[in-house]
Amino acid sequence: MKKIQMVDLGGQYKPIKNKVDTYISEILESSAFINGPHVHAFQKELEDYLKVKHVIPCANGTDALQITMMGLGLQPGDEVITADFTFAATVEVIALLQLTPVLVDVEEDTFNINIEAVKKAITPKTKAIVPVHLFGQCANMEEIMAVAKEYNLYVIEDNAQAIGSTYNFSDGRKAKAGTIGNVAATSFFPSKNLGCYGDGGAIFTNDDELAHTIRGIVNHGMYERYHHDVVGVNSRLDSIQAAVLRAKLPNLDNYNNARLNAANKYDEAFKDIPHIIIPYRDSKITTHVFHQYTLRVTNGKRDELVKHLGENGIPCGVYYPIPLHKQKAYADKRYNEDDFSVTNMLVKEVISLPMHTELDDEQIDFITTKVIEFVNK
Ligand SMILES: *Cc1c(COP(=O)(O)O)cnc(C)c1O
Repeated sequence: MKKIQMVDLGGQYKPIKNKVDTYISEILESSAFINGPHVHAFQKELEDYLKVKHVIPCANGTDALQITMMGLGLQPGDEVITADFTFAATVEVIALLQLTPVLVDVEEDTFNINIEAVKKAITPKTKAIVPVHLFGQCANMEEIMAVAKEYNLYVIEDNAQAIGSTYNFSDGRKAKAGTIGNVAATSFFPSKNLGCYGDGGAIFTNDDELAHTIRGIVNHGMYERYHHDVVGVNSRLDSIQAAVLRAKLPNLDNYNNARLNAANKYDEAFKDIPHIIIPYRDSKITTHVFHQYTLRVTNGKRDELVKHLGENGIPCGVYYPIPLHKQKAYADKRYNEDDFSVTNMLVKEVISLPMHTELDDEQIDFITTKVIEFVNK
């Protein structure tokens, strides 16, 4: 059996090696390292794939989130509501810009932001909601957009984990994750569903004016060379990363299908096993692209299972072990523990199993056998 890895970037590279190597040598020969033709081409190809008017590439997903908030003109003291159960980058940039993060609980089944909790958290200072499409399926965007409309709030999608996922509206309309809110941020970190070979990120929007503002912000606030109209940042996707992404984008749907197939096999093995809850699929409203395959272990033995799998050569992850509202950097006296009952429970129960495009049946059988052996013992 091939060694089991959490992600297998080496295995994924093999079938695209020729294309990637050719693109990279072209860049080395031409020295077009920054803003080269691959960056432009990738931007257009991703716009076509997502059916979104503007893709603005940048240096990483965290920058992408920060720049969306700068682009929207959010000001110190403005409140931004986001989920307590997500990667810290989401709340970090809110705090960095001296906006006020307001963390709220998530739903027990989907792990995504709880709409009732969002509504409860809205104050006259609230300016934006940041739903995170956690682990690969969309938050309930239709409800979020309705609340945003009612209270006149911006919606910034954190799409770092759900690129390629499709959202289904109740009227039959479909849209790709990251093209529904005012603006979205994504990450091309190597292990993401569409990952490059270093850092990378992008912002998506259908708003022409916002796209123009953001294109200046990523480039030192310049709209005309050496005229700095606003305070910006330096955040670029480099040509080599864009080339890798161009080689991978035509395979994105296949990659996501490979993840879905692996998830289906995991589900089949675990569906009737006591003390294990398989990932809920909110399939009426969203497809799942399984950035992570995350089980809940309800007998209090999650940490022992992590150890057992490790001893058997099976890597796994706990995403996320600590609720953000309990992190030193983001603690706030205004929070009340009772408002975070779901996150507080999930951090003790969740375990993410190896999930990538190269998992084979033999590996999946081995992993499922070891998990089931442990919970049945
Ligand atoms: C990965 C990730 C980010 C940050 O992306 P980077 O490219 O690592 O900066 C932000 N939000 C979520 C939910 C992520 O998973």
